[in-house]
Amino acid sequence: MPPPTRIVVLGAGFGGLEAMLALERRFRGDPRVELTLVSENNYFLFTPLLPQIVSSYIEPRHIVQSLRDIRRQRRFRFLRARATGLDFAQRQLQLTTGPLAYDYLVLAVGSVADFFGIPGAAANCFSPKSLEEAVELRDHLLDLFEHADHEPDATRRRQLLTLVVVGGGYTGVELVAELRDLVYRYVITRYRGIQRDDVRLILLEAAEDILRGVDPELARRARRKLQREGIELRTQARVTLVTPEGVEVNEKDDLHAGLVIWSAGVRANPLLDSLPVEKDKSGRVVVNAHLQVKGYPRVFAIGDAAVVEKTPPEQSPRIAPVALAQGRLVAENLPRAMLGQMLLPYEFEPRGMLVSLGMNDAVIQVMGIKLAGYFAWLFWNSVHLLRLVGLKKQVQVALDWSLATFFPRDTSIIRRPQRCRLCAPAASPPAV
Ligand SMILES: Cc1cc2nc3c(=O)[nH]c(=O)nc-3n(C[C@H](O)[C@H](O)[C@H](O)COP(=O)(O)OP(=O)(O)OC[C@H]3O[C@@H](n4cnc5c(N)ncnc54)[C@H](O)[C@@H]3O)c2cc1C
Repeated sequence: MPPPTRIVVLGAGFGGLEAMLALERRFRGDPRVELTLVSENNYFLFTPLLPQIVSSYIEPRHIVQSLRDIRRQRRFRFLRARATGLDFAQRQLQLTTGPLAYDYLVLAVGSVADFFGIPGAAANCFSPKSLEEAVELRDHLLDLFEHADHEPDATRRRQLLTLVVVGGGYTGVELVAELRDLVYRYVITRYRGIQRDDVRLILLEAAEDILRGVDPELARRARRKLQREGIELRTQARVTLVTPEGVEVNEKDDLHAGLVIWSAGVRANPLLDSLPVEKDKSGRVVVNAHLQVKGYPRVFAIGDAAVVEKTPPEQSPRIAPVALAQGRLVAENLPRAMLGQMLLPYEFEPRGMLVSLGMNDAVIQVMGIKLAGYFAWLFWNSVHLLRLVGLKKQVQVALDWSLATFFPRDTSIIRRPQRCRLCAPAASPPAV
């Protein structure tokens, strides 16, 4: 019998996991195919709930699902390793565990924060794209409150408690709304040294308005709500420098801040940078309508890491539904490619937009229906709960949400904040 065809999916996020699960259904019981899922983490991360980790609304482990549990008795293999290089000519991946050869490859490595080369941004901003980064940010934020609580100088205290979010897209809006909930519902009632007026929450957006791509009426409604809740919205405010003390806006205004969160842009995973293939200006690999990398028909690319050729920007958003749909299409097209059959084209289907404005409020636009307020928030919660992988996680998150209505948030600092300028350095262990 000839050796089995090796199909490797790199990346176990929305796109990669969906592709692997669908491929597995397609090839179940077929000994001629070997399926391997490679990813640097052994869990699937549900990114839409990351802002709620930052605000201590839900527990970090509740938004990740172990791939070993998802896999159970399935026949695909999972390999926990980080890819450090891709060699399309030799059909080989360089992994931290050693080389891995493939016959067909699905690239689903996602994206990273894009700081657009703004001086100091990468070093001084938090950018919660992974679970570790969200937990690091949460602990840093809580540590800031601990210091501010005992800061006798009012000016210095206000400076520490100036929290800036850069980027008024849906993630930036959700983050600033979560910060507001944490501060007003929890911090000012429990930290005697911090008054409501000490805290400034600022959302900076370089464009003329926030929530571009969302229905203008809903975006206006969201803007009014955030402003009513005391969040300063500054549009046409381009960050030009970030320092440990704050940000510079439009090359002239200095804004002193205790914390700057970057949510202003993403670019494709830098792993793709060295690939000798066509890419767009944010580093995404250009694929044809069948999601194949141009010039390499055995390599497919999906999700945040890919852009379909000749697609207008509004039809190639970096959102989970696109990665999921492309993952499913790859699982259709790859077997067809193996058999020399005609491949199916990818067509973007807008699924609407859901934006949480913190507890009890959201704006949504789904199937032509526009809704804002409490029922929109219930809808937001239900959709996100249903999309979480695994009943256990769904129960855990639902419980977190319910408990937060009656009990205080858990604001214990678990990790020693690494970037705290105010903490005393850790004592060195005694010499033996
Ligand atoms: C804070 C935040 C909130 C968001 N909210 C929403 C939302 O509400 N709705 C929405 O639709 N979208 C949202 N998104 C966007 C959404 O998460 C992405 O569009 C989606 O995750 C893209 O899927 P993907 O499969 O391309 O990449 P990802 O889901 O990011 O998966 C990439 C995978 O590749 C792995 N990987 C990366 N590099 C390597 C390597 N070198 N070696 C091995 N493995 C590697 C990663 O560990 C990960 O498992 C949000 C994103 C963030 C960061």
